Amino acid sequence: MELNNKSISELKKLYGQNSVKPSEVVQSCLDAISNKDNEIGAFLEVMPEDALRRARELEKESSEERALFGIPIAVKDNICTIDRHTTCASKILKGYKPPYNATVVERLLDAGAIIIGKTNMDEFAMGSSTENSAYQITRNPWNMEFAPGGSSGGSAAAVAAYMVPVALGSDTGGSIRQPASLCGVVGLKGTYGRVSRYGLVAFASSLDQIGPITRTVEDSAIVMNVISGRDTFDATTIPDKPGDLTVGLGRGVERLKIAVPGDLERWDIDEELKGILKDTVAKLKEAGANIEPVKFPDMEASIACYYVIANAEASSNLARYDGVKYAFRAEAESIGEMYERTRGEGFGDEVKRRILLGTYVLSAGYYDAYYNKAQQVRAMICSEFETIFSTYDLVMLPTVPGPSFRLGERIDNPIEMYLSDIFTTSANIAGIPALSVPAGFTRKGLPLGIQLMAGYTQEAKLLQGAEMLEKIYNFNKG
Ligand code: GLN
Repeated sequence: MELNNKSISELKKLYGQNSVKPSEVVQSCLDAISNKDNEIGAFLEVMPEDALRRARELEKESSEERALFGIPIAVKDNICTIDRHTTCASKILKGYKPPYNATVVERLLDAGAIIIGKTNMDEFAMGSSTENSAYQITRNPWNMEFAPGGSSGGSAAAVAAYMVPVALGSDTGGSIRQPASLCGVVGLKGTYGRVSRYGLVAFASSLDQIGPITRTVEDSAIVMNVISGRDTFDATTIPDKPGDLTVGLGRGVERLKIAVPGDLERWDIDEELKGILKDTVAKLKEAGANIEPVKFPDMEASIACYYVIANAEASSNLARYDGVKYAFRAEAESIGEMYERTRGEGFGDEVKRRILLGTYVLSAGYYDAYYNKAQQVRAMICSEFETIFSTYDLVMLPTVPGPSFRLGERIDNPIEMYLSDIFTTSANIAGIPALSVPAGFTRKGLPLGIQLMAGYTQEAKLLQGAEMLEKIYNFNKG
């Protein structure tokens, strides 16, 4: 029996019937990785011995009550794993092994999951194609000439290529949802504070969230149940547990009020995706949902605001890589030269661009014009969403304006690359939950995604709506 292509819920069933063992499932995923990952490049590190050892330990315990018993999982390389490399795909963290596990990793392990490896990403999660990794590129499993999206491109590709049933990503401006959309899998970013950021290497602390990338909506809910909740190590976590996020599944969308953008024509959206969106509206109406066109927060303002705030926070967060505290240190005659050379040689071009932009918008002469203005725009976007969600349960829009693009095509054009986040950044700006589900394929066979957003802390509703989309597009084939 092929086990690497099973979803979490299918594996749980098989474990319940005692028909498979964790070591068999792990071996099957490891085999899939050895067969495919040379070409795809989703993993920066695979941990076969650790994973098999843990699988065998779990076999002794046979505590199948645990929510993720025997489930292999891949973790994005900006999430700390004790004594195991955590490089953020940056040269400046080459060889770095944290002395502790991120809270999410602890929670996964407590729930019986098995960490199988660390996935490739854009350096420090800055990018939308995973081409900014200092180590390797990752290819889109649906077409090897195309990008998997980013920055969690390794995680999305690993799940899409059936190398693991689930991988963790991080989303600051779309980095879970955008690669999920481009790789044809489900990507969920919860409400800001839903998941602890303790042990997530900081990019932009007021926007960052960790979340699951899976092949089914139910799996996404199962993993979110495990990783969410208050953490005393992260004061921004939401105190209340969301409750069981699988509760909304199977309820359908009857009486759900869904807002769609009234002015979709304004954007340059792929024609096939537009068609899918229209079709989806009709099918959701048939299923009993109440759908209305609404004026959305200004997406252009959102993306501009995002690139000011994210870069400002990044320039401050990345000040810690000075050649003293962490892995890489360049040879130099003086301490000043050491700082300069370490940062000059250790960071890639995109990271340097962000640090420069961030430092600029925070500088005394420009602070009001850029940083303060961006904070005002942020407040405006939050209040616009509040108004929408006082009437509607969900918002539906594309995740990305189109399908994936060829590797190399956008790498020299940062503005074009930034624009693939046009529909995703507003959820980070407002701190609301959002997810991408696969909505079918272009005629050329590239996946397309649809995004849902919900009001603050309304993940259950989000998943409820997503499950209906999953039925409509019929992508849940295990
Ligand atoms: N693509 C966006 C950026 O480059 C978002 C990244 C992210 O969400 N980590 O900043």
